[in-house]
Amino acid sequence: MEPLKFTVGIDIGGTNTKLGLVDSEGHLLRKVNFSTNPLLSFADYQILLTSALEEVSHDIKRENLLGVGMGVPGANGKTGSIPEAANIPFLTEIPLQSVLAKQWNLPVFVAKDANAAAIGEMLFGSAKGMNHFILLTLGTGLGSGLVINGKIVSGSHGLAAEYGHSVLVKNGRSCNCGQRGCFETYVSATGLKRTAISLLAKSNQQSILRDIPPNQLDAQKIAEASENGDGIAKRAIKKTAQWLGLKMVDLVVLTDPEVIILAGGLSNIGDYFLHTVRESLDNKLLPMFKGKVKVVYSSLGSDDAAILGAASLVMNLKN
Ligand SMILES: [Zn+2]
Repeated sequence: MEPLKFTVGIDIGGTNTKLGLVDSEGHLLRKVNFSTNPLLSFADYQILLTSALEEVSHDIKRENLLGVGMGVPGANGKTGSIPEAANIPFLTEIPLQSVLAKQWNLPVFVAKDANAAAIGEMLFGSAKGMNHFILLTLGTGLGSGLVINGKIVSGSHGLAAEYGHSVLVKNGRSCNCGQRGCFETYVSATGLKRTAISLLAKSNQQSILRDIPPNQLDAQKIAEASENGDGIAKRAIKKTAQWLGLKMVDLVVLTDPEVIILAGGLSNIGDYFLHTVRESLDNKLLPMFKGKVKVVYSSLGSDDAAILGAASLVMNLKN
């Protein structure tokens, strides 16, 4: 019998870095997490990443490790470098693929996080067998992966689908990219929190959220409060879902997808959010598109989709 082969998938996010050991059937066997401190230097981050890689693959013989796939926000899949990482400043301009392949002496594949997750969905998740779909990762920021005719759209410079940095509100909220009013400053886990804080500041309405220190407030706590009938939390979720539905109209009329998959931190905050997104999209669609595009949460679970997607970069490119 041939020895089993493995890959490691790494999902680098603005809040956490998650690594997973994956077998050739797409089973996630072990996970290791550490927090992505945006104030680190790349050299310090490299040390943490290398020790996490050793931990997650400690009992695998080197010759049975096919390689490492990495999903990174803002990455250029063509060059394997990170031209601009708005939420992870120490990665900006780092030629990540070549630096790590040399250090680890392993094949390393780097893609934009949302593109990696889209490949994961195509191989193992909600988009199995589909040729036209869109994946949105809603975490610290908003990432997007477009699959058209069964292929990731990467654009002429490898930079396509930075939808999170399209404008939602003229002169709106400041974004880590240096612009104002970017889509991701409203629709992401961070955006939901900003909306909740702004609603709290603008009214005297009672809210459970007032008892949570701002640095401990997150999407999950806002969703829980909303489910417990908290008016402010519910309004924050409703506004976020309506903005998302509105911006999805562009995606649908431009690409006519079979499904739009939501992954990341906002993909497990319950039915109310998903229902409101669908309603907002449906209200604004041309009649000929109505009822044709599904909007679903990732079936792989928010952590697993990103890790499996990153691991599948190795399998996808090797096969
Ligand atoms: Zn931006």
